[in-house]
Amino acid sequence: MNLLEDYHVHCNYNDHSAHDLTIPNVTRQAEELNLETIAFTEHIRKTSDWLPEYLREIESSSKDSSVKIIPGFEAKILVDGSIDCPEEYSKNYFLIASFHTLYHDKSVWLNALTNAIENPSVDVIGHIAPETTFRMEQCEVEDLASLIVKNKKIIEINAKYRRPPPEWIVPFMEKGVKFHLGSDAHRLEDIGQFTKISDLISLVIDQDSH
Ligand SMILES: [Zn+2]
Ligand SMILES: [Zn+2]
Repeated sequence: MNLLEDYHVHCNYNDHSAHDLTIPNVTRQAEELNLETIAFTEHIRKTSDWLPEYLREIESSSKDSSVKIIPGFEAKILVDGSIDCPEEYSKNYFLIASFHTLYHDKSVWLNALTNAIENPSVDVIGHIAPETTFRMEQCEVEDLASLIVKNKKIIEINAKYRRPPPEWIVPFMEKGVKFHLGSDAHRLEDIGQFTKISDLISLVIDQDSH
């Protein structure tokens, strides 16, 4: 896990980010921080109509940048586990699948998550955690970890939501789950900032060095 890589950054193509979170400003901020890699992962829906323009803007910003810039999206996991993203984009770009809706039912949630993990177009499961109305037993966490490894998905350590839950990290690592970092920045000052999850990061690093 590399602290100079931020795989979850938003920009001003959504309606709730800071107005100065433009693609050129994000790129400049990443350069000033000497980050090695960032992924633009704007919220996408099947109905999004700004996709070509967004991708063109990322491409032109990344041309002369010292930072490796990955174009991508964050898509919602729907109740049946399908992904709210047009197929030609989910297949061809870096894709984080995340829960943005409460389903209030453990079996519905787990079934949706399983389908998302088994979806070959998904690269990363974003800010994963159980809903507050249910718990996952240790054996369920281990089964989940095995499914993640089998399907070669990455689990993001998310700074905005401080997830996954710390008690999931060690069993995940023991099964061989790979992690990376995502700030989930919606403001310039949040890009590449991981100090508020240093406890989660040290769980991964401690385990790595054993
Ligand atoms: Zn999200
Ligand atoms: Zn996000």
